[in-house]
Amino acid sequence: MAVTWDWLVKKNFRLNDANLHPAVRQKAWDVIFELWQQGIYVLITQGYRSIAEQNDLYAQGRTKPGKIVTNARGGQSYHNYGLAIDFVLYTKDGKDVTWDDSSAEWKQVVRVFKSKEFAWGGDFRTFKDTPHFEMTFGYTYSQLQNGKGPVRPATVVVIPEPAKAVSSAVLNQESTCTIIVNGAKLDARGIMRDNLSYLPVRAVGNATGVTVGFENGKALLGKGVLQTTILIGDSGYAHTREIADVLGYKVDWDGKTQTVTLTKGAR
Ligand SMILES: [Zn+2]
Repeated sequence: MAVTWDWLVKKNFRLNDANLHPAVRQKAWDVIFELWQQGIYVLITQGYRSIAEQNDLYAQGRTKPGKIVTNARGGQSYHNYGLAIDFVLYTKDGKDVTWDDSSAEWKQVVRVFKSKEFAWGGDFRTFKDTPHFEMTFGYTYSQLQNGKGPVRPATVVVIPEPAKAVSSAVLNQESTCTIIVNGAKLDARGIMRDNLSYLPVRAVGNATGVTVGFENGKALLGKGVLQTTILIGDSGYAHTREIADVLGYKVDWDGKTQTVTLTKGAR
């Protein structure tokens, strides 16, 4: 693939802006990752915009030179509340960008963003804004101007990562750890990577009675998507701490016996 994921993550630094709502950031990362896997490379060109910046933009084509690009004065754009983003597409080789909103790729971007609860500017009645997506949470900008708005949960935004495929030959050379779930030792073993333990998701799911699935390169445990998923052979492993968080379990580590103990409740 011409464009690597790490490269695209660096280019999309605007999504790291804490002024953007965490749900907007997370869903945008998820969409960009999904599209990257399809060979479509999205660059976020705008996120949060201050009121002053918005007024400046409004002046363009009116009291300042240039072409009119917005009908929104300061405070009238969802960008001003960290709820909107604009994008452009990289060409296949990543060397240029294109605003061709009639292309199949552009339409696919729109489809995927809309599937993640974003509203698209191309659907606006008065001012078609095809590089624009927003998440209103049901608030009008006047409500937002009056200090209302969505809560901002203190969630950590996780940038997705491609699952790293590792052969089972490598597994045989890796150090492993014992797994105990609710007092019972599992036949399956965890693996150690950089002093962190990773557990086989299927085995942990079986031991805890929680459904296991697999989607877009990530193991699913109940309703949780395990962002730290790594593939070893055909099996998905995930970081112990993340598994414990998703299950709501307490985790203990015994370095002497290299044993991970997961226990329901008591957190
Ligand atoms: Zn916009």
